[in-house]
Amino acid sequence: MQFLQSHVDELLTAWPRLRRRPSRRADVVIVGGVLDFSWVPPGRPAITDTYQVRLEVPLFSTETLPNVYEEGQRVPRTPDNHVNSAGNLCLGSPLQLQLKLGPSPTLLAYVDQCVIPFLYAASWRQRGYAGYPFEELEHGARGLYDDYQHLLGLHTGPAVRAALLALTKRKRVANKLPCPCGCARRLGRCNYRASLNTWRRLAPRAFFRKVLAQLLALDAPAAPAPSAQRRLKLANSKRCMRNPVVTRPALVACVP
Ligand SMILES: [Zn+2]
Repeated sequence: MQFLQSHVDELLTAWPRLRRRPSRRADVVIVGGVLDFSWVPPGRPAITDTYQVRLEVPLFSTETLPNVYEEGQRVPRTPDNHVNSAGNLCLGSPLQLQLKLGPSPTLLAYVDQCVIPFLYAASWRQRGYAGYPFEELEHGARGLYDDYQHLLGLHTGPAVRAALLALTKRKRVANKLPCPCGCARRLGRCNYRASLNTWRRLAPRAFFRKVLAQLLALDAPAAPAPSAQRRLKLANSKRCMRNPVVTRPALVACVP
């Protein structure tokens, strides 16, 4: 996804209590101020709340997502609250955000569909509701591998890395690689390539290079087993498919 000046203007119009702030870098727009929202996710209670936030939005970049900070000290900077030590919020894994927002989202959609659900979840906790309102992934490498296995339809860590590697290469080159699905054929001879082509339409190769590099940089287990939560989800998947109106507005994953 790539954000432009016009996206910033649209955001400031839609959220009039946000203002542009001075930025040292011409290619990064800083926006800060108040997000006051009222939201009723499907099957959840309405929450109205107000947060002080700052967004650092890289312009023209297809690889880097905006960083969002909560400036009112209402959300403690701990992994349990999905806040990195640098203070930026963990809004979801890069692949999850890309899938959620599509190939050319607006900055307004990023705020409405990724930031507001995060703040809703923070308010949910502060109001003493049990657990977390949305699906919650484990932190760090485990959470990312879990998420990526699910999103890419694969079952092991090495398969995830192989799929991401294929996405960093041109189709012609990737098709000669062993297929990540485990079919023992080349990717070009397996229908799994159609799944990868769907991802290719969502983001450029540079994005997947960054995603793969981030994964490799983590102290990652070779092939993590699905977490208890994922196992439960897999066990429930038939029920979910029969009941597609159940929507999950946000998936929160921590990327340290
Ligand atoms: Zn295959």
